[in-house]
Amino acid sequence: MTAGVNGQGSTRGRVLDVIRAAGPVSRVEVSQATGLAQASVTEAVKELLADDFVREVGRGRSTGGRPRTLLALNPSGGYAIGAQLGWSRSAVVLADLTGTVVASATEDGADGRPPESIVAGLAEDIARMRGIADAPVLGLGLAVPGPIDTPHGTAVQLPESSPWADFSLTHALEETTGLRVVLDNDATAVAVGEYWTGGSDSSGVFATVYMEIGIGAGIIVGGAPFRGISGNAGEMGHISVDMAGPPCHCGNRGCVELFAAPAATEARYASVTGRSLSYAQIAEAAERGEPEALGVVSTSAEALAAALVSFANVVDPDRILLAGPGFAHAADVYVDTIQRRLDAAMFVRRTHRIAVRTAGSSHLTGALGAASLVLHDLVTP
Ligand SMILES: [Zn+2]
Repeated sequence: MTAGVNGQGSTRGRVLDVIRAAGPVSRVEVSQATGLAQASVTEAVKELLADDFVREVGRGRSTGGRPRTLLALNPSGGYAIGAQLGWSRSAVVLADLTGTVVASATEDGADGRPPESIVAGLAEDIARMRGIADAPVLGLGLAVPGPIDTPHGTAVQLPESSPWADFSLTHALEETTGLRVVLDNDATAVAVGEYWTGGSDSSGVFATVYMEIGIGAGIIVGGAPFRGISGNAGEMGHISVDMAGPPCHCGNRGCVELFAAPAATEARYASVTGRSLSYAQIAEAAERGEPEALGVVSTSAEALAAALVSFANVVDPDRILLAGPGFAHAADVYVDTIQRRLDAAMFVRRTHRIAVRTAGSSHLTGALGAASLVLHDLVTP
C-alpha cells in the first residue's frame, strides 16, 4: 500500500515531498530517496524553482567533486489559508509553504449561527489574510467535525440543526472567495498538518488522535491520508468500549467518547466533587496534582487507552500523536496511560512498539491542519 500511494504522486510531487521532509537536500540525494533518475529530478527541480516553491540555499560539503547545491522549500513561495469551523469556536490561519502560521484570527463557532453568517465572517478573515500574503494563495482548506459529505461539500453534523443539513460550505466559500476549497474532517486535517510540518517522510504509518468536543483520528499511510470510501475513516471516538454501555448519539452503545471526551470528564468531576468546572479547568487542576481532578482525567485516559489498543490492532501504526485543545493540559497523563496500555496489550507488541507523544494542542492546530490540506495537494493532488 505504501508503494502504491507513493507511486500515484507525480514526479514533481514526489521531488517536492522529499525536499520538504529532508531539505536542505541535494538533487543527488533526492534522486536516491525517490528512486527517480537524476535527469527527471533535475527537470522537476527546474519547474519547482520556476514556480518559486523551492529555492537553492547554498552548497553541501564536497565529497570529492564539486560541492552539491542544496534545495529547500521556499517559505514565501506560496500560501494556504486554513479554516477550522467548530461548534464553539472557529479559527482561520494564513500559513506559508512550510506550514508556518503567518497570521491568524479566531471567530465564534457555528453553534446557533446561520451558515450564511459563518461564511460571511470567514470570508472577511480570508480577504484580510489574502492582503497579507505576498505570493499566490493556493487554496482554502476547511476542517470541520466529522462526519462530512465530501461530494456535496457539507458538514453533516455542524451543528445538528436544520440550516446546515443541505448547506454546501465548500460551494458557498468557493463562490464567496473564488478560492479552491478542500474540505476534510478536523482529525484528518490535523494528521496532514503533522505530516507536512513535522518533518515526516512518506515511509511511515501514523495516526493523530484529535480531541476537542469529540474524539477522532487521522491516519497517514505512505505520505497520504487514509480517508475511507466517504472521507470518514478514523472516527475512533465511536469505538465501543462497553457493548452494553449507554447509547451514543451515533447509534452505537458504550462509545469511548462517552467515557473519555471532555463532557464526560466534566460530568464525572461534578459527580465526584459536587463542583462544576470546565474541562480545561479540570485538566489544569490535574496538572497541578489535585487528586479528584487527576482521578477523573486518569479515568478518561484509561478509556481512551482501551479504545486505542483496538484502534492500533486494526491500523498497526508506528506512532500515535495526541493533538487538539483536549490535550492542552495534563497531556502527560494521557501519553503515559496510553503508552503503558499499548506496551502491555497491543497484539503485535513483540514486533514493534508504538511511540505515543503530543503534537499541537493550541486552538490553531485544526486551522493549520486545514491549511496543510492545500499544501499537501502540491504533492498528491
Ligand atoms: Zn458513538
